[in-house]
Amino acid sequence: MISRDPSRPIAVIGAGFSGTMCAIQLLARLGPERRVLLCERAGTFGRGRAYATGNPDHLLNVRATNMSAYPDWPEHFSEWLATTDFDATEACGIRATPGGTFAARGLYGRYLTELLTRAVTGGDGPPRLDLVHDAVTDLEPGAGGFTLRTEGGASYAIAGAVLAMGNLGATGAPRSRHAADPWAPEGFGRLHPDRPVLIVGTGLTMVDAVATLRRHGFAGPIVALSRRGLLPCAHAAVQPWPMPDLAGATTLAALTARIRSEIARAAAAGIGWRGVIDALRPVTDPLWRNLPAPEKARFLRHLRPFWDIHRHRAAPPSAAFIADEIARGILTVRAGRIRTITDTATEALVTLRPRGGSADETVAVQCILDATGIGRVAETDDPLIRRLLARGLVRPGPFGIGLDATPDLRALGAAEAAPLWVVGPLLRGVLWECTAVPDIRNQAAGLADAVARALSGPA
Ligand SMILES: Cc1cc2nc3c(=O)[nH]c(=O)nc-3n(C[C@H](O)[C@H](O)[C@H](O)COP(=O)(O)OP(=O)(O)OC[C@H]3O[C@@H](n4cnc5c(N)ncnc54)[C@H](O)[C@@H]3O)c2cc1C
Repeated sequence: MISRDPSRPIAVIGAGFSGTMCAIQLLARLGPERRVLLCERAGTFGRGRAYATGNPDHLLNVRATNMSAYPDWPEHFSEWLATTDFDATEACGIRATPGGTFAARGLYGRYLTELLTRAVTGGDGPPRLDLVHDAVTDLEPGAGGFTLRTEGGASYAIAGAVLAMGNLGATGAPRSRHAADPWAPEGFGRLHPDRPVLIVGTGLTMVDAVATLRRHGFAGPIVALSRRGLLPCAHAAVQPWPMPDLAGATTLAALTARIRSEIARAAAAGIGWRGVIDALRPVTDPLWRNLPAPEKARFLRHLRPFWDIHRHRAAPPSAAFIADEIARGILTVRAGRIRTITDTATEALVTLRPRGGSADETVAVQCILDATGIGRVAETDDPLIRRLLARGLVRPGPFGIGLDATPDLRALGAAEAAPLWVVGPLLRGVLWECTAVPDIRNQAAGLADAVARALSGPA
């Protein structure tokens, strides 16, 4: 049951892009007396994992024209870029390329921080957005909503909550005392200049990790390893292509054949594959939803890496940086899988089986960075998710790679439906497109509508 009592706020847990935009959209929709609590355990609000970086080589991997925070104002970020005063260092973070303009992610973080500041200080009446700088550890159901508890020992009576906690983190991480977090360069320690570093994963996080290592002063060899050793494609100028007709293609094989033939048709008309992949964007989620479960499993097993490198492309300067690293022989990209890791005092001996090979190889590395991405809900050690699972308030989504939810993003658990919603990458599995700004901004607006409807419905 959800409380009509306006003194009970709605809590948003996590203040990255998803939580920040949910909070802003909720303020616009809920009555003037309803407050929103935005809870964040990290040092900064508004930036989350992706946009907290100060490294100017960490570029957005989506064109500035697609990065507006608002679905109904698509040019909002481009206009902000064009009208904001930047100092010389910041201005270097705006890269115009033939494939579009790509900004440094730290600049995007500044954009979000400004939106949040306006939300906290704006409006005529008393402030309605409260920032709670603490980790949320539990939601205890009770009459009219939940008691929200934090690590710092505070508790709040709330009407409902939105889980906006981002990716749960990779759980397939190699276990080694030499493992380090690619997002926390201070934890890399003092790296030996000549001994290799291993990055597990060859996607966009690997691209970032290489840039981080180089900015950290490490000039030595880096080995990047993934099952197939595929690198993200680069953005380039795209000519639009109409949405392919996929009617009747209900299996993965049929869909793949149809998309391949569409790419061939586009190529014959002088249009590159990027136009076709981009044309699929509006139908990707319905396609995912309608695929039978065994076909989805087949996609995850075989096709996902190929889809990811074409769909999630690198900014051209980032792709050129990686190509240069490879050409200079200081970055080696390998296809294979890790069999064992044996730690010694100074290094990890990583035994791997190269893809297609029949014999193992051992590589000695001084540090291992995990850049593999999505973790499984059942294996997470996140304390809040573990408690919510135990309370039956949430359950793993399809294939265990996110939380289960209704079409209007209400969390599904074993227990009776609670006033609990989910947004962003935690929905992976239910939605396929839920990790990038152009998708999350729509979800945040839709979710705020759903919460407003629930609050005005039967108590
Ligand atoms: C390196 C990187 C680069 C990316 N680049 C782009 C890009 O260029 N364009 C694009 O569209 N997308 C990009 N993405 C995708 C990205 O997932 C989304 O754009 C968006 O940032 C996701 O935000 P989020 O708020 O869902 O998650 P996050 O940014 O992970 O934020 C979740 C927040 O929740 C907090 N939190 C978690 N648990 C708790 C708790 N119990 N209590 C309190 N706080 C909690 C965390 O501290 C964190 O700040 C990128 C992602 C990464 C990782």
